[in-house]
Amino acid sequence: MDINELVKKAIEAKKLSYAPYSKFKVGSALLGKSGKVYTGCNIEYASYSPTICAERTAISKAVSEGEREFEAIAVCGDSEYSYPCGVCRQVMREFSKDMKVIVVKSENEYKEHTLEELLPYSFGPEDLQNV
Ligand code: ZN
Repeated sequence: MDINELVKKAIEAKKLSYAPYSKFKVGSALLGKSGKVYTGCNIEYASYSPTICAERTAISKAVSEGEREFEAIAVCGDSEYSYPCGVCRQVMREFSKDMKVIVVKSENEYKEHTLEELLPYSFGPEDLQNV
């Protein structure tokens, strides 16, 4: 799976966004180390707090299907480059400290980062190993 394919899947996933309140649509495509891709979209609720981001939707789908290590995630939102929120960055960190995060403007315009760049000096599972 190359990055261009992952970007296209994130753009496609955005079409399924359920964002009737914010109108801010986001799609994501998560590449597992197995090679399988899990897509996600943001899902909002009238009571707001159960709202989930596209990235966490994809990660939840993957983990619920037994995949816990990820190569990369592509994210496409309604702003020029929509970066993952802090909560999503921490959720990514739980499973794959070294994954790539690709923020997508269009099919041919995107930026690649590492999670380490977006969440430096992070707290993760290994911090609890000696407790
Ligand atoms: Zn988020």
